Amino acid sequence: MTDLTDLHDDLRSGVRQLCAKYPGEYWQKVDKDHSYPTDFVNSMSEAGYLKALIPEEYGGIGVGITEASIILEEVHRSGGNAAACHAQMYIMGTLLRHGSDEQKAYYLPKIASGELRLQAFGVTEPNAGTDTTNLRTRAVRDGDEYVVNGQKIWISRAEHSDLMILLARTTPIDQVKKKTQGLSVFLIDLKSTIGNGVTIKPIETMINHQTTEIFIDNLRIPADTLIGEEGMGFRYILDGMNAERVLIAAECVGDGYWFVDKATNYANDREVFGRPISQNQGIQFPIAQAYIHLRAADLMRYEAARLYESGQPCGAEANMAKLLAADASWEAANTALQTYGGYAFAREYDIERKFRETRLYQVAPISTNLVLSYVGQHILGMPRSF
Ligand SMILES: Cc1cc2nc3c(=O)[nH]c(=O)nc-3n(C[C@H](O)[C@H](O)[C@H](O)COP(=O)(O)OP(=O)(O)OC[C@H]3O[C@@H](n4cnc5c(N)ncnc54)[C@H](O)[C@@H]3O)c2cc1C
Repeated sequence: MTDLTDLHDDLRSGVRQLCAKYPGEYWQKVDKDHSYPTDFVNSMSEAGYLKALIPEEYGGIGVGITEASIILEEVHRSGGNAAACHAQMYIMGTLLRHGSDEQKAYYLPKIASGELRLQAFGVTEPNAGTDTTNLRTRAVRDGDEYVVNGQKIWISRAEHSDLMILLARTTPIDQVKKKTQGLSVFLIDLKSTIGNGVTIKPIETMINHQTTEIFIDNLRIPADTLIGEEGMGFRYILDGMNAERVLIAAECVGDGYWFVDKATNYANDREVFGRPISQNQGIQFPIAQAYIHLRAADLMRYEAARLYESGQPCGAEANMAKLLAADASWEAANTALQTYGGYAFAREYDIERKFRETRLYQVAPISTNLVLSYVGQHILGMPRSF
């Protein structure tokens, strides 16, 4: 336990030191330019944080999702944003848990060394939205290859990744018993496919997220890019999604604590009517309330991470951690904005940027409504509403 606590403390202080080199001005600039925070991502990679989940035998650090979540939390707690590189952590489970020995031996050392970036997760489609099993992208076996056709949307970091995990249908939906069957996962060498069947189109968004639309037209990929068994991909992706929810919950917790610290310090410093505004309960109580909600969300995040790590079912906890943490960070964001008053709207204080950034988590990677319907249906046994 002490060893683990020491490890967590070391990780926290290491990430904090690294992030201190990337202050608000850095994030304001990349946000304004809508540019990729290359220096920050390179520093994270060189310091070894992006290989945290890769086992030591493949050149990684070999820690668990709890430690990975601490790394991402600290980035957000420092005022930065890990979205430019967090996917390498949540995608990793798909390859680690379901990839073949050959795939792991080939890819993991290269990802660990930084030679290859695994940052793109190709699931969402324009016509399917949250209804993932209804996706239309098709991969059809042709000898030693699959031929892929389809379209993806909101695929973040595709222009800054060498590899992409792709979810596609290999058996038509009318030929499977359950919609979750007949989907398969591929690990694609994205760089070599651009212009050879893949076209990437950036989407301008209210946050600097480097997200894109991907058009796939008669793309030929080797059959050995298939991860695990053909037709079982939805299960593998769900694994990755649970990891993603735990990690995003940790980022929300980091955002939330950042907002609470900012609001508290500002409220103590700012004097109006001859006293600090923090002396007014109308300012003090919302900050305290946001803090309490964050602490509670944080507990659920650790519980979800513990279950994930031990290989137990964690869908409920991962979803609930994501919802609680996203709500708590959004509450903290609103509170910080109100506390700063007019100054919250000035870019130099970072409140408006982080406010925009943390709003995303009500919608992605899974929207609040879908978490509620999951709990209503799968945990509480009420009927499916759709
Ligand atoms: C910035 C950004 C980055 C992203 N990055 C990635 C990525 O890297 N890879 C990837 O695969 N995807 C990515 N996504 C996609 C993201 O996961 C989806 O946007 C999200 O899951 C919601 O899907 P949708 O946008 O299609 O909404 P829809 O499914 O169209 O839903 C719209 C609204 O309707 C609600 N709704 C839908 N059905 C129901 C229902 N039955 N009951 C109640 N409410 C319902 C939803 O909750 C939501 O509020 C990203 C999205 C964004 C915005």
